[in-house]
Amino acid sequence: VSQQYPNMNHKRKRQPDKPAQNPLQAKRIKLLETRKHLPIWPKQSAIHTALAHHDVLILSGETGSGKSTQIPQFLLDQPYCKPRKGCAGKIAVTQPRRVAAISLARRVAEEMGSPLGSASPGSRVGYSVRFDENTSPGTRIKYLTEGMLLQEILRDGALGEYGCVVVDEVHERSVNVDLLLGFLRGLVRGKRKGGLKVVVMSATAEVEALAKFFDESAGETEAMIGGEGEVPQVTDESGRDDDEVSWNGFEDPDEASQGTGAINGTHNAVASSPTQSARIYVEGRQYPVTTKYLDTPADELEEAALQRIFALHTKEPLPGDILVFLPGQDRIHSLQTLVEEFAQSLPPDIPKLQVLPLFAALPQNQQQRIFQPAPPRTRKVILSTNIAETSVTVPGVRFVVDTGLVKIKQFRTRLGLESLLVKPISRSSADQRQGRAGREAPGQCHRLYTKSAYDALESHSAPEILRCDLASALLTLKARGIADPLNFSFLTPPPLSALQKALLHLLHLSALSTTGSLTPTGRQLSRLPLTPALARVVLEAAKPSLNCLHPIIDIVAALSVENLWLNPDTEEGRERAAEARQALMSREGDHLTLLAAVRGYVAEASDRRRWAEAHMISHRAMQSVMDVRKQLLAQCQRADLFRHQDTVAAETTSSTTMELSQTEPILRSLLAGFAAHTARLCPDGSYKTFVGNQTVGIHPGSVLQGRKVEGIVFSEFVYTTRAWARNVSVVRLGWVGEVLG
Ligand code: ADP
Repeated sequence: VSQQYPNMNHKRKRQPDKPAQNPLQAKRIKLLETRKHLPIWPKQSAIHTALAHHDVLILSGETGSGKSTQIPQFLLDQPYCKPRKGCAGKIAVTQPRRVAAISLARRVAEEMGSPLGSASPGSRVGYSVRFDENTSPGTRIKYLTEGMLLQEILRDGALGEYGCVVVDEVHERSVNVDLLLGFLRGLVRGKRKGGLKVVVMSATAEVEALAKFFDESAGETEAMIGGEGEVPQVTDESGRDDDEVSWNGFEDPDEASQGTGAINGTHNAVASSPTQSARIYVEGRQYPVTTKYLDTPADELEEAALQRIFALHTKEPLPGDILVFLPGQDRIHSLQTLVEEFAQSLPPDIPKLQVLPLFAALPQNQQQRIFQPAPPRTRKVILSTNIAETSVTVPGVRFVVDTGLVKIKQFRTRLGLESLLVKPISRSSADQRQGRAGREAPGQCHRLYTKSAYDALESHSAPEILRCDLASALLTLKARGIADPLNFSFLTPPPLSALQKALLHLLHLSALSTTGSLTPTGRQLSRLPLTPALARVVLEAAKPSLNCLHPIIDIVAALSVENLWLNPDTEEGRERAAEARQALMSREGDHLTLLAAVRGYVAEASDRRRWAEAHMISHRAMQSVMDVRKQLLAQCQRADLFRHQDTVAAETTSSTTMELSQTEPILRSLLAGFAAHTARLCPDGSYKTFVGNQTVGIHPGSVLQGRKVEGIVFSEFVYTTRAWARNVSVVRLGWVGEVLG
């Protein structure tokens, strides 16, 4: 192999590591020791061999075995990751969540002794997530969300920037990952210029389906390339190849296997043709986990979780952190309040508790706290969504408390509405959650449900593509030149009815023509990092007749965060909050109220944090709104959407006192994207949607709650015990009629 890769030889001379020159290098050397103990470490040569012979590698392995952090570093010095004609040779690593993309990039930068992203032109690791691109000219490894890579495909269908694309967390089966796999399959089979290596990584053994997907002949336009014949088995018991030089910071290949004796792992069928995929399995380190169930179902989940946390904390010795799985940010916040209150009452002889939330929208600075060890005599309690199931590995956990619930997107085809639902997890998720307790030592898993409830769980959850609004996916495909999305190579083809619904939705947004081809509007929509509906609102606002792009950008940015308004728990607190917000409330509804909040915050010159607190607004959420706003402004500028905008309109600061002449264009723009999310007032006082004739209530958090107006438009639909319209504005029936025709 060293002959094959002569460029490796100089590396040998540069090693071994000299005494630390600077803190970055000192940290790198320290982390190297930890890396060498990861189960994936002895698999390097097997991975290199597999990719030397194949274009696609399917790597399955336990969470925490080191896939996401190590694989890109293993590949960095391989020939296919060198800049060459038609390919810049970078490595893309996709993640379903921004939290994971950012924290992995930060970790890998540390492991490589490199600054992160734009911090230095020479930094070798960066990330790119929606509204936050942090890379440098020197970036070699780029962690990015699946959505961002799809955006890059729009710019360059051949992905010429990359020599290798690593698709991580495939088992989560987000729609975006399914689309990416389809595109990558096309690129590999179409024999992209300069070649392309694809590593597909999954925490569960979906290997067969994935291998079949990549290996089987395509029934469509792609050229079918070989792949038949005997499949020789290559085994690599030791996981080492002494001929190989190291490219990971040690000179002696023996060092590579130090400390890895306890790690087992079997290997790989390697097929003879590069078009067939290779497979490698990495076994994780797993200690036994004792699992406990409830005898009877819990009445109140937060209460049950609280009791369990305190039973564990008071009985079990340290060290041993507790990881609690909850279905969403709101439940996390309410349990956090309960645990923190309770922690105050602990007697001094009991160790302290440190409560750390973990969810997708968590601000960056808080993410890192998850990875830091607890202070002395303190136990960490991490309250997490399913993000800690596989996507983010939290160290130090010995106890898992599992509510058995998850919040997922569910598309109701008949209504054409997508909503977030709290649902029971699958058995495979329950087992993943359980496994988190046994990563570092024997552990315990406390399931807050009965054994029979566990047995009744579905074995796997359906991929998102089977239960989401496909409008975005379809637009993505159309914009990337897939003329007939019904024939796209989907890992799991979605039902025809859902695809048809999405086609219709895109037709209504004028993204597609009646013949199904992409319109110029559709092309513009696909360039904006928003759902088609929100993108349509932005485009509408940019029209000279409406001229309200600035306020719409403020509103769309405010809609991008989950909880802008602080939600006090007590009645008294809520009253205080309502009073504090009085000055921002608009009679026209939530969207203009959000606009008033954003404008008020922007106009505040002296102390924005205090301003936010005084108005019971989350300062942190507002900072993220500002981020999004900045990015959206830049995107719209780039798309030349401001050319018809009157700047005077942009400078209006107060929106609570806006004239109808100013609010009408804003509300009409909203209607252009959300015509299907409109409802009229019925004689019995309820609201019924124009499309689908479904009863919806105005969400209790809306400023329009309790108001009776002739028509409403809403940008969010939540379905809990009943259907709620969230983020609601007042509209005239006549306007709705004009849009719906
Ligand atoms: P896998 O992808 O197989 O789940 P990872 O590469 O994500 O494994 O994780 C390997 C190890 O690196 C884990 O033990 C984890 O604790 C550690 N790790 C990963 N990300 C970070 C981070 N941001 N900070 C600190 N440690 C991390």
